[in-house]
Amino acid sequence: MRGQNKTAKTSGLKSNDLILITGAGGFIAGSLARYFRDQGFTNIRAVDKKPLPEWYQVVPGVESLCLDVSLEANCVRVAEGAVEVYNLAADMGGMGFIERFRVQCLRSILINTNMIEAAYRAGAQRYFFSSSACAYNTKLQEDPNCLALKESDAYPAFSERGYGWEKLVSEMFCQEYWAERGMKTAIARFHNVYGPHGTWYGGREKAPAAMCRKVIEAKDQGKKTLEIWGDGTQTRSFMYIDDCVKGIDMITHCEDLIATPINLGSSELVSINTLAEMAEKIGGVKLQHNYDLSAPKGVAGRNSDNTFIQKVLKWEPNTTLKAGLTKTYNWIAAQYEARKAGHRTVE
Ligand code: NAD
Repeated sequence: MRGQNKTAKTSGLKSNDLILITGAGGFIAGSLARYFRDQGFTNIRAVDKKPLPEWYQVVPGVESLCLDVSLEANCVRVAEGAVEVYNLAADMGGMGFIERFRVQCLRSILINTNMIEAAYRAGAQRYFFSSSACAYNTKLQEDPNCLALKESDAYPAFSERGYGWEKLVSEMFCQEYWAERGMKTAIARFHNVYGPHGTWYGGREKAPAAMCRKVIEAKDQGKKTLEIWGDGTQTRSFMYIDDCVKGIDMITHCEDLIATPINLGSSELVSINTLAEMAEKIGGVKLQHNYDLSAPKGVAGRNSDNTFIQKVLKWEPNTTLKAGLTKTYNWIAAQYEARKAGHRTVE
């Protein structure tokens, strides 16, 4: 349901106020930079440690800097003059990445620790942090028919080891910077985000992009099978990127949500088998599913309980998986073709 959407346009932010976005060479933060630029903001600083040619999107009209924000000095430098800070930089990926590289995930604590302090010292008015559904207690997610996760389910804490714990502790930083120091912070727990410009190969890609790519590959190579991680019964919800950036804006500019973790995810629950079938249908093929039971598969079931976001924002992510996956499939198919033709693709 769409209602009184408070977007940045109405938030009191002036069009030339400096907006800092970290992790902007990646999927979500790159799309966020484009979103604010399209809203008419003229002073956006995008930062990522990746060299510029490897950024998923370099948005024209946005200052784009290659700097590592796990280092304090770089945080101080990029935060200078920022009115709002959106910290999305993190070493992350799908289950294949976060179950294998826990140390790398945990080390993202350096980014959040240094960035929030630099934002505070620079006098930023608002600070956004991208948390994750992986912060939730994993014991509540052992059943594919799981109950949807509500915000209070993060405690007692039993997060995903590594990535999830880093998110939970960084959330606490945000809460204490508000409680103790009065900086307005916003915390969204994202549930699986997908869409054009997301990672689609290389090991960090998540299920929707991986599934589209595998179907596209199978069609291209004449294969009749589709490899699925786990037994395919694990369930998830997937949020389309346009809903994600809109939600970030609304959450950050809502006074009732200061320092309050909130789910930002779709509540359309599907099994991985259903996701595969949807991708096959879009691609116009039917493949035999081969299940790799030794592959990383994450928790058995996870969905977003959207009671709280509906109550506070009168809105929830509402792009259907069918609509979002079709756009994503078509985008990946174009990337796949470009790559095959020898053109450079970065995601
Ligand atoms: P992404 O990997 O596409 O983007 C993250 C970017 O951060 C990368 O470009 C990376 O180079 C950059 N980065 C990492 N370390 C850095 C450093 N020290 N300094 C500067 N840049 C650095 O990931 P994404 O999907 O766009 O995720 C963005 C944020 O949302 C992350 O915090 C992630 O944990 C969170 N999140 C994402 C999802 C999802 O489904 N994509 C789900 C839950 C939470």
